[in-house]
Formats: sequence, C-alpha cells, structure tokens
Amino acid sequence: MKLKEIYTNNKNFPLISFEVFPPKSDDKKLIEEIKVLKQYTPQFISLTYGAGGKGNKSFELLNIIRNLGINVVPHFTCITSSKKSVNERLIKIEKSGIENILALRGDIPTCESDRHFDFNYANELVAFIKDKTNLSIGVAGYPEGHIESPDLHSDILNLKKKVNAGADVIFTQLFFDNKKFYNYTEILREKGINLPVIAGIMPIISKNQLQKMTSMARVTIPNIINEKAEKYADDPISLRDFGIDYATEQCLDLIKNNVEGLHFFTLNKSYSTAKILDNIKGVR
Ligand code: FAD
Repeated sequence: MKLKEIYTNNKNFPLISFEVFPPKSDDKKLIEEIKVLKQYTPQFISLTYGAGGKGNKSFELLNIIRNLGINVVPHFTCITSSKKSVNERLIKIEKSGIENILALRGDIPTCESDRHFDFNYANELVAFIKDKTNLSIGVAGYPEGHIESPDLHSDILNLKKKVNAGADVIFTQLFFDNKKFYNYTEILREKGINLPVIAGIMPIISKNQLQKMTSMARVTIPNIINEKAEKYADDPISLRDFGIDYATEQCLDLIKNNVEGLHFFTLNKSYSTAKILDNIKGVR
C-alpha cells in the first residue's frame, strides 16, 4: 500500500513502522529480528540506503522483507548519483512492485570527487521521482533544524520545497524532547504544510549509539539522558532499560497529543522497540 493511503485511509492512529539498515555481515540475524517486530503489525519497514551508494544489498533485502508479508519503504539518496543511475534504480524499484520511497539528499560526502552534481537537494529528487514514477514519496524533516541549516525557519522553508515538489509524508529525525516536535508541527501547519508528520523514535540502547547518533544531528539531549548515560556507563542493561522507559513516556505523550505515526529507528534490534510497544499496547 502507498504511504499516502496508509496515513489518509487509516485513522487508527498512531500507525507503527520500523526502520532497519542493511547489515554489514549476513542478513539472517536481522531477519529474525524482523520476524519479532512483525508481530506488532507495522504498516511498513523502511530500509536505509548508504549515501555513498553502497546499496547493492538493499534490493535483495527489500524483497526478503516483502516475502515476509511486510510492506516496504526503501530510502533513496541522490547526492552521489547521476540522473541516469537514479532513473535506473527507480525503474528497478517500481518494476518490482514497490510502491513507496523515502527521498533523501544524503550527507555530503567528505571526498568531493564522490559527489555528483545532478541533484543538489532532496526537493530536486522528489520532483524527479514525481515526474518519472507513481511512487508515493516520504521526505525527511528535522524538528530542531537540519545540522547544515542556519535556523529552523529556513530549514522549514526548504522542507516546503520538498512538499511542493510532491512529497506525501514527512518522517522526522530522532528527537528526545517532545516539545521540539510539537513546536515543529505547529510551525509546519502555520506555513501551510499539512502532510502527516511521523515521529522518529530512537530507543537508547547504548552510550556509543547515543553519542554516534547525536553527533551527526542537531538533537537536544535532556539532562536526565546525559545523567543516566554517565551513571550506567558500565551497566549497558540498565541503560537499555532506562532507554525503554524514556521512549515509552515519549510515545505515551505523543499519543496523547494525537501523533499520526511512530517510526522506530530499531538499529536492527527488536528488543527495546518490542518492549516499548508492549508498554503502550493498551493506549494505542
Ligand atoms: P535536504 O532536504 O536536501 O536538506 C539538506 C540541507 O539543505 C538542509 O539544511 C536544508 O535546509 C537545505 N536545503 C534543502 N533544500 C534546499 C534548497 N533547494 N536550497 C538551499 N538549501 C536547501 N541518510 C542516508 O545516507 N541514508 C538513509 O537511509 C537516511 N535515512 C534517513 C531517514 C530519516 C527519517 C532522516 C530524518 C534522515 C535520513 N538520512 C539518511 C539522513 C539525511 O540523508 C541527511 O540528514 C542529509 O544531510 C539531508 O538529507 P535531506 O533529504 O533532508 O536533504
């Protein structure tokens, strides 16, 4: 089913979805984790795509997930790609019967020669996809502003370019302070952006992961998270359990505030996401 239909035909909010990434080694472990997550009836699973074009395994994995009876949303980056190769990849995706795509620019490669200048921003990719395919298009949104943008408002004006080019749904970057999400959606509505805004939830599963994910993004880390990350520096189980409790509270508050979708960045592990979904079961 298309993203557009998922969020407009279905009013049983919040709708649940998961993000996974292609593993470096074999896929078996990930497939086992996905089988656990399937019990929570996700609307779809999205699969990340390497900005450097390291996506060869992605297509195979997308088909494995679909064969488990789960709808998929492939992520698709363009900063290192020519129009010709983007077109070829799009044809392959659509021919296979996939109906959706998450259109991204991708991070600017550190090595200038890896960059291609056919697409400079995601809005150009969205327009291209809209022109060439019937795929339903998701785009990224940043509740605290994208890391390269001078401020939230200019980033939102750039988001509007993606919306005007044909995006159907906005998926946010992770955030730990729900107020940032509410403020963001309020500004989007004021600016006339009325698409579904799906909250990106990342359960904290380790100190390394927290540091890595937040170093790449503009994300406020509440004091309580820093305190617990310090306190449980040598106690990964307690930190993981704190992460489950924190994300559970976050989700409960988002549900109370009528969020349309919760998109879990699972980091290829089902445990924390499954616990959070068990915790919010009666409420959603
Ligand atoms: P854009 O929307 O193009 O924005 C990039 C920057 O340029 C922003 O600062 C924006 O304000 C500015 N800008 C946008 N349009 C214009 C314009 N027309 N003129 C001037 N400035 C402009 N990365 C991956 O490599 N693989 C993935 O699978 C992946 N999945 C993601 C999933 C989600 C839900 C999110 C939130 C991010 C994901 N990313 C992924 C990260 C993403 O690729 C980076 O954040 C990247 O730096 C920006 O991508 P974008 O599509 O948001 O770019």
